[in-house]
Parts: sequence; structure tokens; C-alpha cells
Amino acid sequence: MARTAIYPGSFDPLTNGHVSIIERGLRVFDRVIVAIAINIRKEPLFSIEERSEFIRREFGKERVEIDTFEGLLVDYAAERGVSVILRGLRAVSDFEYELQMANMNRKLDDTIDTVFMMTEERDFYVSSSLVKEVASFGGKVEGIVPAFVEQRLVEKFSDTNQEE
Ligand code: ADP
Repeated sequence: MARTAIYPGSFDPLTNGHVSIIERGLRVFDRVIVAIAINIRKEPLFSIEERSEFIRREFGKERVEIDTFEGLLVDYAAERGVSVILRGLRAVSDFEYELQMANMNRKLDDTIDTVFMMTEERDFYVSSSLVKEVASFGGKVEGIVPAFVEQRLVEKFSDTNQEE
């Protein structure tokens, strides 16, 4: 039976930290479903379509599926018949939040487990929010995100800066 994990997140946008977790996830699991969370409370920079496109450009269709979900992750996992959630861990600051969430999810559905992968050293300080902040001020994010994401960040912020 194929082992599948769901890797949920905002991916706004995809960073090399995410890429590394997906690549390493594929060594452990046969398939990874990258599930983009639709969160009405967060105002994303990139649309769901753009975020999916970034992931699709990086990974083929064979073992990586891209999907979206709304509402509780455990409900989505049950719907998909998947019992493993994959998450990445960076600093200690991630740990507390991730521990809370993993425990809450287990309380909601004890058939679902969360598996964590440690960030690679070079991605330690990489987060989508930091990348957006740096790019918004014209800082270089080369090597922190895939090249096509970097390109789109530059375009996005030159559009908004011109509008102002
Ligand atoms: P969320 O809003 O759910 O935190 P993100 O897209 O920011 O969504 O992150 C999705 C997952 O990827 C989380 O488990 C996060 O810890 C992990 N992640 C993000 N950046 C990195 C990184 N640089 N190294 C390892 N894991 C990361």
C-alpha cells in the first residue's frame, strides 16, 4: 500500500525551506499531497492559483499532488483517507506552536499522526513572511526561493510600488 502524507501550509510563496521538506518527505513517503490552506483571515500576497503554479513548476505530478482545503485539517485528512501530516520545524519558536497543533489534531482525531522534519541548516531563517518583507523593500531573495518565485516577487512589488 502506498504511503501518503499531507503537507499542509500557506505556501505564500513557496520557499526553498518548503522545497526541502517536500523532497525529503518523498524519501520517506510514496506520495505527498501539498495542501494549500484557504484561510479567510490571512490576506495572501499570491492567489491560490499562483501558489499552486509555483509548487507545480518545482515538482512533477507523479508523486506530488497539489490540493487546497478549508476548515479543519483533520477533516480534510479523513476525507482524503490519509493518516499522516508532514510539517517542518525550524527554530524552538516553531516547536511550541507545532506541538500545540499536533496535540489538538490528535485530540480531534487520534488516527492521525504528525511527522516532523527538521529544517536544513541553510533554510533555518527562511520563512514566507520574511521573504515577502525583504522583497517588498527590494532586497534580494536569490537562493532562498526558487528562481521563478523570485522573479514573481520582483514583479509583484514593482507593480505595487508603482501604484503608490
Ligand atoms: P503555515 O501558515 O501553516 O505555517 P507555511 O507555508 O508558513 O504555512 O509553512 C508550512 C510548513 O512548512 C510548516 O510546517 C513550516 O514549519 C514549514 N516550513 C516553512 N519554512 C520552513 C523552512 N525554512 N524549513 C523547514 N520547514 C519550513
